[in-house]
Amino acid sequence: MRVVEHGPLSAIVAGRRMPRWFIDERGHRYEFKRIAEENHSGGFDLKQLTGNQCILAPGVIYERKPADDFSCTSCGDDEAGLVNDKTWGWVCDDCKQKLDKIDRETDWESWDEERRRKLAEANEY
Ligand SMILES: [Zn+2]
Repeated sequence: MRVVEHGPLSAIVAGRRMPRWFIDERGHRYEFKRIAEENHSGGFDLKQLTGNQCILAPGVIYERKPADDFSCTSCGDDEAGLVNDKTWGWVCDDCKQKLDKIDRETDWESWDEERRRKLAEANEY
């Protein structure tokens, strides 16, 4: 299994920073479940894992989230077929179309200028 994306490294296990969640190369999302129990020989008994769990060094069990646990980060719909977009994160197809359209049609330079102007104005008071 390869970690292609991960969340904040907020858990410290055996001196290592571990992510709260990660996404593997197949797009499955795993969430931090618990610290694995070591067996007598210092390894990990894989019997403690259920079918949707996996273990990452130095011994953290992650649990795969079912696909229907996903929801679109834009509209909140939890439908199947979300895409992990580089710009928008996990969004449904509808939202991706919409966001891409906005991205194409927005003049980001003037949008940025406008934003800076507003900020400058706010700072005057
Ligand atoms: Zn959506």
